[in-house]
Amino acid sequence: MINKKECEIVKDLFPNYIDNLTSKDTNNFIENHLNECKDCRLILEEMQENEKLDLEDNEIINFAKKFNKKYNLLKLIVALLVLSCVIVFLRKGIIMANLLNKTNLLANINNYYIEYYQYNDDSITVITSYVKDNKYLRKLKNINKIDGNIIDEMVEQFDGEKCNLYIKSENEYQTYYDVEKNNIMPIALKSYYLSSNIFDFIKNCLFTKIQQVEYNGIIAYKFTNLYNNQMINKNDDNYVYIDKENGLILRASSGVVSTDNTAYNTFIELKYKFNSVTDDDILNVDLK
Ligand SMILES: [Zn+2]
Repeated sequence: MINKKECEIVKDLFPNYIDNLTSKDTNNFIENHLNECKDCRLILEEMQENEKLDLEDNEIINFAKKFNKKYNLLKLIVALLVLSCVIVFLRKGIIMANLLNKTNLLANINNYYIEYYQYNDDSITVITSYVKDNKYLRKLKNINKIDGNIIDEMVEQFDGEKCNLYIKSENEYQTYYDVEKNNIMPIALKSYYLSSNIFDFIKNCLFTKIQQVEYNGIIAYKFTNLYNNQMINKNDDNYVYIDKENGLILRASSGVVSTDNTAYNTFIELKYKFNSVTDDDILNVDLK
């Protein structure tokens, strides 16, 4: 005969029994009772089944926790990526803003000399500009690449009052005095690549690769334009070297159309000197 009171005691012990927390004696007592009591056996089986389901639930919760951790990691990675993009963007913005400031300061310089070279298919165009106060002189020369002879030459001069033009053809200079001033302009000291327009500025920051390089012994930034490749051969870089110290262009890629209408990629090169131009450089036109 099964003692109902014993059933109650055994049922109270089940939770600990399932978790293996009961002593050996208690286990014997429970198991003896179970041998005789079918009701309690069924109750235990059901409890064990539920326990198993609980464990499975826990596994799902653990999985969800782990997933959440991974998701947080993913969020962190994305945040870091965005942050590094912002840092790269800001770095470019700071470099460009600095260079722009430096070139703006150059507007105050009223004594400078610029050598400009453009490498054509069969000739080199050389333009030298002397600027002092409000006077200036500009020489344009086309030099044959093979024999070094001058193909044609032109001198533009503004002596402070009048503009004079000297054009050399067939080894003779033609001289034109007091021509329209509008036709003659000195090369300004500025970086044509850098723009203070906010949209161009942002576009340049986003789509320009900036590397610090050494060019002819000068520390320079190489700007490679990634969005607007105007190069004739699309495999060539659209680039410009800018002097880190003053923001001036040292070299730039360029497309050139030659006399026989074939187009090709080449480059221009510029050199600068400050505060070395004398009145003589501008007023005494050396005609030979
Ligand atoms: Zn029982």
